[in-house]
Amino acid sequence: MSAYDQNNIFAKILRGEIPNDTVYEDDHVLAFNDIAPQAPIHILVIPKGAYVSIDDFGANASADEIKAFHAAIAKIIEQKNLKTDGFRVISNTGRHGGQEVPHYHAHILAGKKLGPMLSA
Ligand code: 5GP
Repeated sequence: MSAYDQNNIFAKILRGEIPNDTVYEDDHVLAFNDIAPQAPIHILVIPKGAYVSIDDFGANASADEIKAFHAAIAKIIEQKNLKTDGFRVISNTGRHGGQEVPHYHAHILAGKKLGPMLSA
């Protein structure tokens, strides 16, 4: 795994250098609307700690950070009323996963029937 790049775009958002449309925030987590939404609801959930990917986060984050991350997703699902119709959570990782931003993030996608998991 590559070292964490302090200049990735989400690190800049966390430092307040780039604005974001915040949906949820607590001590460990920030969630904001994706700049190029792929569904009517497209929210990015990121830990405030410097983790490259889901496996980096799972291996190296504290129990409090891991709990806060999943609790934040649950709060957003509740807040946006997504339980009834459902939603999808994706974490693209590395080159084959198509990860563009090397700071761990989960995409929450919802608001329409999302179709097959993979198109190819
Ligand atoms: P990835 O491909 O790494 O899983 O997803 C990166 C996501 O970040 C993309 O969906 C992209 O639209 C989003 N994104 C990239 N730059 C920005 C930005 O400056 N602000 C916001 N809100 N989203 C961004």
